[in-house]
This record gives sequence, structure tokens and C-alpha cells, in this order.
Amino acid sequence: MNVKNINESRLLNRMEQMAEIGAVNESGVHRLSLTDEDKEARDLVKTWMLEAGLDVDIDKIGNMYGRRKGKTDNAPVAFGSHLDTVGYGGRFDGSLGVMAALEVMETLNDLNFTTNIPLCMVNFTNEEGARFAPDMMGSMVVAAETSVEKAWNATDLKKSNTILKEELERIGYLGNTNPVLFRPAAFVELHIEQGPVLDKEQITIGIVESVQGIYWTRFVITGEANHAGTTPMELRKDAGYVASQIAAYCRQLAGKYSGLRTTAGLIELEPNLINVIAGKATISIDIRCPDKQILEKAEIQLEKFTYECSYGENCEIKIRPLTRVDPVIFEIRVVSSITNSARSLGYTTKKMVSGAGHDAQLMAGVCPAAMIFIPSKNGISHNVKEYSSPDDCIAGTNVLLNTVISLSGRQF
Ligand SMILES: [Zn+2]
Repeated sequence: MNVKNINESRLLNRMEQMAEIGAVNESGVHRLSLTDEDKEARDLVKTWMLEAGLDVDIDKIGNMYGRRKGKTDNAPVAFGSHLDTVGYGGRFDGSLGVMAALEVMETLNDLNFTTNIPLCMVNFTNEEGARFAPDMMGSMVVAAETSVEKAWNATDLKKSNTILKEELERIGYLGNTNPVLFRPAAFVELHIEQGPVLDKEQITIGIVESVQGIYWTRFVITGEANHAGTTPMELRKDAGYVASQIAAYCRQLAGKYSGLRTTAGLIELEPNLINVIAGKATISIDIRCPDKQILEKAEIQLEKFTYECSYGENCEIKIRPLTRVDPVIFEIRVVSSITNSARSLGYTTKKMVSGAGHDAQLMAGVCPAAMIFIPSKNGISHNVKEYSSPDDCIAGTNVLLNTVISLSGRQF
């Protein structure tokens, strides 16, 4: 493989300029979706895309596309990420993938290189879901997993009279193109790992083969509030006791299956007083795994346990599924293109599972897709302290460049 390299200083300078939009607390960024800051970031990328000679297009949910012609008119190889951040987030999450995509286009211009099939860079709307729910909204609409009308009606999580469609219009990013018409030949996303593995193992490139599935379930247990001193142990209907048993069981479940992660992150007791038996308890469980069968097995076992435990304490239990996102297995041809590119460039690599959700997992329902990860220092992200080194950002972008070149010469 005849490897190509990007223009390092152009990439780093532009990343720096982008990080100034919504800058907070020294190195952080606060750039919620469809705010004035998001508009400024979008405008800057649009200017750069036009300067790079790309055909810029905006769809009905505000996703931005920058197309570069190929020798044929076939469906393009697409790549990109998102420019929005969580509140008080970092400068790398999402932004790196968009800046790298732009740099790939610029490098190909510098090399006078015309790919066989066209290329298309993307900035997806509202990946973070920090201002409007759900997250990964732009790619979800592209994947037809939700309708554009439903997404338009989303309201600001803090100001319920602010509607997403009006915000798109206000900042000038309500386009005309139908998102479901975006059907690329393949999709690649470069992103920071947001976990500690690559940093800890001193590996430069993560080759993401799958994204774990996420099941959220809420259990509401109703017992009877009563006096802590006068109620005999055998006559109690202690909803708090049941909730704590569920929390402990969920931790044990994770030990039974490889790859399973379980968290009892939310427990609320009523009345929540030191000398009163809890009459009501709400516990929400987050279970994740790259293997759907394990997720389903764990869910059934957890339910069975919660019933047994509640009835054993003479409590009632109501189970409400909240989120069901199945695991995504990325496409082998895209994964191997990334692997070959990273190895030809001489970078250390590791195959991995993404612990967080990304636009690429929605795109995997549309076309062959996969992801490239670079290390996050100490695994910190969604935090102003988020950091990835310039060398790693450059390495990731070089891998993206060579992956795109290789994919653009393939048949899908
Ligand atoms: Zn992200």
C-alpha cells in the first residue's frame, strides 16, 4: 500500500480554531446543538468546505454534507462525525472526526488525487442529545429509525417552548434535502476512544469492530412505609431492601458473562428517612454488552430475580423498559481497510468494542461502516479535561485518509 500523509499543521491549526468556538475553562468547549455557538462552528466548517471546492448541502434535519467528485457518479464513501458537544465538554469528542474529514479532502486536493467513486464528509446534527433528545438524532433520521417530523418536534430539555425545527431555522440550517436519500457506499468515523484502554496500553489506533448494546430498565417497588423500631423484621414490606438486593444481583450478573457491564446508577427511596422503612423504591439498571444473546439472557435473569425478591418481601413490582439499543457489528471490509491502513502507516493497533454510542452505529444500518479510535488521556471525556495528543490526532487522520482512499477503490 502506497501510504499518503496529511498536512499536520493545517489539521492542528483548524482544530485549535474550532476549539475557540464555545471555549470554556481553559481547554473545554460548551457548544450545545443548534445554539449560536453551534451555528458559528457550522459556518466555519461550511466556509472551509467551500474553500476546499466541496459541494455543500444541508438536509431537513440540519446534517451538513460536503461532496467531492470522483471519476464515477456512484454512491460516495462518506466520513465525518459531529460538531456539537455536551455541556462543559471537550474539544475532541466529535469535532476531531469533522476536522479530520475536512483534512482528508484538503490533502486529496493537494495531491491532485481523484478517487474512483465520489467522497462525502458529514457533520451530523445533535449527536450528543444534551439539549434535545434523543441523541444521535441526525444519523437516526438518516437511518430512518425516526422521522424528520418527530425530530423537528423535539423540545429543548431546559426550555420546553423552544422547538428544534425553529432553532434549525433560526441558525439557518434547515435544509431541503431528504435525509433518507443519503445512501453512501460506506461510512467511516474517526473518534476519540472516551475510555482508558488505548491510553493505558499505549496503543495509537483502535479498530472498532462493534458497539455494545444498551438496555435500560426501571423497576418500581411498592412496599409499606412503617416504623423502623416497632415493625418486626418478618412483617416488613421493605421496598428499599428489595432495591438493594436488585443492585447487588445486577453486579453479580456482570461476573457471570464476559463482556457484560451492569450499573445500578439510580436508586430513589420514599420517604428516604433514617427511621422509616422505605414504602417505595425506584431503581434503574443500565446493562451493556456487545453480544445481543447475552444482553437478552441477562435481562431475563434480572427480571426473574426482581419478581422473586419482591414477592419474598411481600412487595409489588412494576418493570418498565426505557431504552433498548441492540449491539452493532461493524462491516468486515471497512474494518479490514482500517486495519491495513493503520498497519501500513506503522501504527500500533488494537481491535475493540465501543462502549459509547456513535453516529457510525446508525450508519451501519444504512451501509457498511466502522470506526477508528485514538487514545483519550486517562480515559476522560465529556469533560473540559478531555485530551488527545496532537500526534494521535494526526495518526488517526492519516488512517482515515488511507482508509477512505482504499474504500473508494472498492466495489460495494
Ligand atoms: Zn462523539
